[in-house]
Amino acid sequence: MNLLRRFFPRKPKKLPRTRPLRCEPEGKTYHLQEIFDQINRDYFKSQIPQLPITWFGTPKTRARRHRLLGYYHNEKKFIKIHRLLDQPEFPNFFISYIVYHEMLHYLYPPIQGPLGKRRIHHRAFKEQEKRFGDYAIAKQWEKEQLWQVIVNGQTSNTAKAKRTRSKEKFLPV
Ligand SMILES: [Zn+2]
Repeated sequence: MNLLRRFFPRKPKKLPRTRPLRCEPEGKTYHLQEIFDQINRDYFKSQIPQLPITWFGTPKTRARRHRLLGYYHNEKKFIKIHRLLDQPEFPNFFISYIVYHEMLHYLYPPIQGPLGKRRIHHRAFKEQEKRFGDYAIAKQWEKEQLWQVIVNGQTSNTAKAKRTRSKEKFLPV
């Protein structure tokens, strides 16, 4: 036993600095705060507390498989939406659907399924998700149009993107 160590324990390691979230809800086309508030009124009687909601990423991001379009941070309780979607080519109902989806993560936290597996999009979540007014049209648009719009908005990578299959999946998480 090192006595010095005993009486003068090592300094605790410095925690890595966490960057404060830069909250930028106002985009060029869409204002995320307005969308959030409207969904909150329309679906939740404004009962969801004011979670920070912000755009993230750059609009000229590369078209890529499994690009994260939306994100909800469970511990810090904020919502991020990819700036790629901040263009008039992405219809309002689709942006609203993504925001609605992320808000549901606040209301329906992950559960432990059998074998301790963490379930994020569990049954209760999915049932509530289907109550979104434009659910069917948003899902259809996602399936049929999303990739096209992403590719067309990415002129520098269009050729490359076209070579990849058209049935890419973009899942809000
Ligand atoms: Zn999700």
